[in-house]
Amino acid sequence: VRDALGEAGCDALLVTKLVNIRYLTGFTGSAAMLLVSSDAMMLITDGRYRDQAAEQLRAAGVDAEVAIGLTAEQQYKMLDEAAAKARLGLEAHHVTWAQQRAMVDRWLPSTAELVATEGIVEALRLVKDDGEVARIEAAATIATDALTSLLPMLFERPTENDFGLELDTEIRRLGAEGNSFETIIAAGPNGAKPHHRAAGSDRRIEEGDLVVIDYGALVDGYCSDMTRTFCIGEPSATQRRMLEVVTAAQAAGVATVAAGAETKAVDGACRSLIGDAGWADAFSHGTGHGVGLEIHEDPRVSWSTTATLAAGHVVTVEPGVYLPEHGGVRIEDTVVVTQDGCRPLTHAPKDPDPQRWRSAPTT
Ligand code: ZN
Ligand code: ZN
Repeated sequence: VRDALGEAGCDALLVTKLVNIRYLTGFTGSAAMLLVSSDAMMLITDGRYRDQAAEQLRAAGVDAEVAIGLTAEQQYKMLDEAAAKARLGLEAHHVTWAQQRAMVDRWLPSTAELVATEGIVEALRLVKDDGEVARIEAAATIATDALTSLLPMLFERPTENDFGLELDTEIRRLGAEGNSFETIIAAGPNGAKPHHRAAGSDRRIEEGDLVVIDYGALVDGYCSDMTRTFCIGEPSATQRRMLEVVTAAQAAGVATVAAGAETKAVDGACRSLIGDAGWADAFSHGTGHGVGLEIHEDPRVSWSTTATLAAGHVVTVEPGVYLPEHGGVRIEDTVVVTQDGCRPLTHAPKDPDPQRWRSAPTT
């Protein structure tokens, strides 16, 4: 962050996005501001986090002063004193118009200037180190194990809600902190809605359904993300073709991932195969996204992106085909980019038959 300050035109950065504060300090509380200047760092939080902040920063080996302010007035007074005469960078995507105006008019009279910055910490978060990759992979392993143990239940006509609830519970039971996002269980016609939610749905999973299951676990703040599509019973000819095309498109996309590859090319590899099958309009979303402390982060992978992949980026490849009369098929893996390709972090079979899943080869 300190290296980026000069180019951003500021002397210090005020980090207010909590996940960025966590990334830089290990602090996981729900309220804090972090001031990073060229020679000092100060975490300002409230009384609830006095002990937790000190413990977490010490555990992360972070050399920062922890300042406790019981009210907003106290907190901004400390900040104003610490940032006096500085050109202070704000995270423009995470400061509201009202907050910025209050800082200018009221809270920060001593700063020289407030500077809008974009993505300084996010740029650092793009490349994951080995410890981050290990956490994502651990989350993915828990997620796969949880689904594997519940597959027999798919044949018991559960509702989408009940299957999702069991899956979420099993993920917690196996040691994750929770879900990385709200579980998607989308059976039959619901599968044609890419982000159909399981919660509250009384649709039963029936013979002949395609079932899209898109879910993930959270381990030490890091997310996993995987989608598998099952067919309950024998797929129809169209369903079989959908499964084949999306499986091939997903493999083609993964095969394109490597350091130096453009995200647009990964999307194109998936999209051209689906287009060749005549379903271009039925692939209605981008191909993937970065995964880390947030479930959706940079780099985005779609036809409209201009990013180039680098070793250590973690991205998903998740093409899909959605046809209301037949259901939906989406297959998604999360991979870490390497110099000459990528390594999958989600290790699970892609066989659409739940009964063959356990013995099928993994990615
Ligand atoms: Zn997903
Ligand atoms: Zn995803």
